[in-house]
Amino acid sequence: MIKCECGSINPDNAKYCQECGVELKEYPSKYQNLSLLGVAGVFLGFIYAPLLILTVGIGLYMWTRPEEFAKKRGKFLILFSVVIFLFALIINIII
Ligand SMILES: [Zn+2]
Repeated sequence: MIKCECGSINPDNAKYCQECGVELKEYPSKYQNLSLLGVAGVFLGFIYAPLLILTVGIGLYMWTRPEEFAKKRGKFLILFSVVIFLFALIINIII
């Protein structure tokens, strides 16, 4: 099924819209999935990037505290952010 810009549904083998006569371009479902993933990726990036900066920021702040416990927590937070970042990067490359 190919959906025309005018909103009418045409058969897969139709070259021109049966309603308005416009030339139909076929969009494979794979392309639609990819663009959907792209949108999801950008959306996630917008949420994820500030979170990552915040986590690294808190981590750095804790790392500079004199308390040994806070230092360990800070290092862990930074390490955790880096691991998550690399994980997201790998997923992006695979997709
Ligand atoms: Zn049409």
